[in-house]
Amino acid sequence: MASVQIKVNVTGIVQGVGFRPFIYRTAVKNELNGYVRNRGDAGVEILLEGEEKNIQNFIEDLKLKKPPLAQIHEIITTRLNGKNEYGKFTIYKSSDEAELSGSVIPPDIAICNDCLKELRDSKDPRYEYFFITCTDCGPRFTIIERLPYDRQNTTMREFPMCSFCQREYADPSNRRFHAQTIACPKCGPKAYLTTRKGESIEHKDPIREAGKLLSEGFIVAVKGYGGFHVATSTTKDDPLIRLRKVKHRSQKPFAIMARSLEAAKIFAEVSKRETELLTSYTRPIVLLNKSNEYYLSDLIAPGLHNVGVMLPYTGLHYMLFDEVDEPAFVMTSANPPNQPIIKDNEEALQKLGDTVDYFLFHNRQIAHRCDDSVTRVHKQNLVFIRRSRGYAPAPIMLRKKAKRCVLGLGGEQNDTACVLLGNKAFISQYIGDVENVETKDFLENAGKHLIRLTNSKVEAVACDLHPKFTTTKLADDLAEENNWQLVQVQHHYAHIAALMAEHDVNEIVGTCCDGYGYGVDGEAWGGEILLCTSESSNFKRVAHLEKQPLIGGDSATRYPLRMATGMLHKKVDVKDWLLENKKQFPHGESEIQIILQQLEKGHSITGTTSCGRVLDAVAAVLGICYERTYEGEPAMKLEASAIKGKDVLKLQPIVKSNILDTAQMLLEIFENREKYSKADLAFSAHAYLAKGLATLAIEKALESNIKVIGFSGGVACNEIFASIMRKSVENAGLRFLVHEAIPSGDGGLSFGQAVVGGFFHS
Ligand SMILES: [Zn+2]
Ligand SMILES: [Zn+2]
Repeated sequence: MASVQIKVNVTGIVQGVGFRPFIYRTAVKNELNGYVRNRGDAGVEILLEGEEKNIQNFIEDLKLKKPPLAQIHEIITTRLNGKNEYGKFTIYKSSDEAELSGSVIPPDIAICNDCLKELRDSKDPRYEYFFITCTDCGPRFTIIERLPYDRQNTTMREFPMCSFCQREYADPSNRRFHAQTIACPKCGPKAYLTTRKGESIEHKDPIREAGKLLSEGFIVAVKGYGGFHVATSTTKDDPLIRLRKVKHRSQKPFAIMARSLEAAKIFAEVSKRETELLTSYTRPIVLLNKSNEYYLSDLIAPGLHNVGVMLPYTGLHYMLFDEVDEPAFVMTSANPPNQPIIKDNEEALQKLGDTVDYFLFHNRQIAHRCDDSVTRVHKQNLVFIRRSRGYAPAPIMLRKKAKRCVLGLGGEQNDTACVLLGNKAFISQYIGDVENVETKDFLENAGKHLIRLTNSKVEAVACDLHPKFTTTKLADDLAEENNWQLVQVQHHYAHIAALMAEHDVNEIVGTCCDGYGYGVDGEAWGGEILLCTSESSNFKRVAHLEKQPLIGGDSATRYPLRMATGMLHKKVDVKDWLLENKKQFPHGESEIQIILQQLEKGHSITGTTSCGRVLDAVAAVLGICYERTYEGEPAMKLEASAIKGKDVLKLQPIVKSNILDTAQMLLEIFENREKYSKADLAFSAHAYLAKGLATLAIEKALESNIKVIGFSGGVACNEIFASIMRKSVENAGLRFLVHEAIPSGDGGLSFGQAVVGGFFHS
């Protein structure tokens, strides 16, 4: 039989997922010689020599039997002239060549079942080794400094393999064949415990000792894959009170890690879909409804109907629970206010020393910080609140290819960066609120790292329209520095463009509801209905919520009673009611007088069409929340209250010149506040807004003969709101779209901006 030689280049997620061992086995099985190697562009190059039909079988196997975590985007084959040059099939050392673009390293992956079994098997050499991993699991994104993905290019470089690990690493029949994170108690990273001052505490079992300290009510900083967590007990109030005090977080919910799915099922309701998500290899935090048997401290998620739960995702996490009965531990990202999650040991000692009692360190460096992902399930739909660990930087696959490569930098809050390249969108890990040097640097580095990883040739940089955002300034600088085109995209348009690209639709009536976005007129927007088509790089604002006074600008956001006052003042005299509630104003009666005077004069008060602010006002009128101590708090607590309510008011939408009235709705809530329960009134407000916006969107869609209505923006995370809108739209015979792969909040903005710059702009 004649022998032929073929070169195969594979792009996708093919490094760090057991791909080369799989290629080796497949080549040997099909009697082929040649080699496989990782390339510097994150792709894999294969040279095959052998019979034509065997090569065809190989390619079939490649497509059908690839390892579970591998994603193949493209297979490019080239016929070569060589013959019989290779006597066997070999795994070669990686090459630094980088010609192709768009491949990427995988996200961090939770410990697999095989490794978990070995962790528990007293006969296994890796028994009780907290960083046990294999080709199917372990950290990737957070340890890789540069490509190709080989041990010397990761922070595992400092841990030379022992002879036992080396043997497994070199054995094609072993699960750890070429596993770059291979390690054991002898040669791998070590864990150790210290006091808050960094003084070492000698203990033969530091991890389980840390678990005991947690259960006794101490606060321990625990270093994981992508950064530090601050951990403590979930069943005792004292440490939570202490933690809230030192972190200056009076209300913001803490995420928790449950010891097992069974444990979580007692204090939370867990559906089948939520179970899948909790136990998946991505292991995100899932917001679960508290069950009737909820018995953890009320200080974990005060005033909310749900609690963010994740399951252990490293051996270390499992071991924390081994010798204690705690059902769960608080596991909140350790970051000082407005700063990125802490990743370095020294930095942790400096910044957390006053917060925690102990540190559980390990001695492996974290190359890239990465927060936990946060998700929610609406019926069957996955809703991303934060898309980070377990997902980033794996790309979102789009149906169409972008006209050019664009870097999106997002807005100001909950930011991410995005590189749009061809039909792939690479969204970075969660960056946070970009307001200072630390987060700006983090964003810039994350963006540049993505560009390097994907070998992208960026042509344009996209950002928000807001002239004063840090990200706008950064985009400006990068455009100048690199000679990239600068594309500024209106906030809500970016949200809707993201929805269009995600679902491959060419025209849409998009409803976008959130807290704040800079409008084209410079005003504060946030309850918008936009008509968008892929033909144009612009949009039409066809309807919006009534503009309401934002008394005192940012302080109206912080104190929602100000928002309510401004809205009600249009309809009734609220002075007596305000005086009854004067304690809710930081400066009491004098503040009320000033607010009322300002309203009487009417000038120098800016306005907002924000849906978030209207929900805030409802929360204040119902006495559910008077101060916003974290983003979204009043609206989240309002949703928590509405969950047990029904639409008692049955208000009909009031629309004048494409503007949905909101003041009259608030007046109805106000006037009925003694008559009905908070839950029913909270639900009625949701119903009015969701139905009102749906009615307007449907009207606009029918006028323009558009069949699709979308819902985006942070409010789309609200299940009651989204489900009422869905029902109205589907009853009208139209298609209703929400995000499935990207966050509906501002974590999806960078992607939407890149879409406008790469698809719609010329
Ligand atoms: Zn494993
Ligand atoms: Zn070893």
